Amino acid sequence: MNESLVDATIPGMILELTDRVLEGGEITREEASGLFELEGSSDIFNLMAGANRIREHFKGKKIHLCSIVNAKAGACSENCSFCAQSSFHQTGSPKYGFVDPEPVLEAAEEANRNGVTAVGLVAAWRGLNEGPMLDEVCDRIRELSQSGKTRADASLGIIKSQKVADRLKEAGLECYGHNLESSRRFFPQHCTTHTYEDRLETIGYLRKAGLKICSGGIIGMGETREDRLDLAFSLREIGANVTPINILNPIKGTPFENLEPLAPMEILKTIACFRFILPRQEIMIAGGRTVNLRDLQSMVFMAGASALMVGNYLTTLNQPVEKDLQMLKDLGLSADWDDNFASQS
Ligand code: SF4
Repeated sequence: MNESLVDATIPGMILELTDRVLEGGEITREEASGLFELEGSSDIFNLMAGANRIREHFKGKKIHLCSIVNAKAGACSENCSFCAQSSFHQTGSPKYGFVDPEPVLEAAEEANRNGVTAVGLVAAWRGLNEGPMLDEVCDRIRELSQSGKTRADASLGIIKSQKVADRLKEAGLECYGHNLESSRRFFPQHCTTHTYEDRLETIGYLRKAGLKICSGGIIGMGETREDRLDLAFSLREIGANVTPINILNPIKGTPFENLEPLAPMEILKTIACFRFILPRQEIMIAGGRTVNLRDLQSMVFMAGASALMVGNYLTTLNQPVEKDLQMLKDLGLSADWDDNFASQS
């Protein structure tokens, strides 16, 4: 732990780091590493109390809600070990081609009804190049954006040219989802058909096009706490606007099907550490929260989360959106939708 900290007790150290972040300062890698190593519920609850103060200070009582549409399902050429949609794994996951306009507009309507700010089109493929598919993707984005019902987001894999990123922006895309997934060191343990560098390069094109970046990762894949620490610092470096934290939901037929799940307190601690490292970002709890956190789901906000993926995930089910909205209400929180779309509905 950093010797510059005056109070050497763990509660005192957490308090000092919290105050520093609230005043606009940053915590160092060494200090963050100490937070990731905390054990025992009283220290973790102390950490969460600090993370909660940081969330409230920078985000208030508003929670950002996103949903996704599986815009092209299954038969993906990539071999990500966590993913039901990879053609390398036998999972029985559905397969279909690029989505028609109607389901996308229905998702926009539903999002609007439920106070969900953004709908993301997510495609299971390696990436997007110039050509007829890019034209079709841009059409769907334009329709979604012009519906006035929701923000148009997308997660469409690797991009290899500035032109593609620029076309997406011109079509009305606001935010592009492209996870780093894990640390640079751990990345080849879950994917070998593309690289960490491919992902960083894509993020470079997106940023240059003026798109917001939604980038986070998956925890519970067998990575170490140091890998999670490195991921958080990489996300700080690339300036991610939104950071989704997914928690592995092991899918039968994937190489990760028998992995031991992370303990809920380890998950909550990880979320809190991310909040200390990324104080101003939207930290979004995405896939795997229902199955891994069960009754502790509502504690993600006390751990510093400020955003939630609602509705069903790509290949697994989530709890009904009404239940999530009730959870926010019970906590005295509300969706940030009002600030974005109330005047347009
Ligand atoms: S995570 Fe994305 S790129 Fe990897 S296999 Fe699944 S759909 Fe393909």
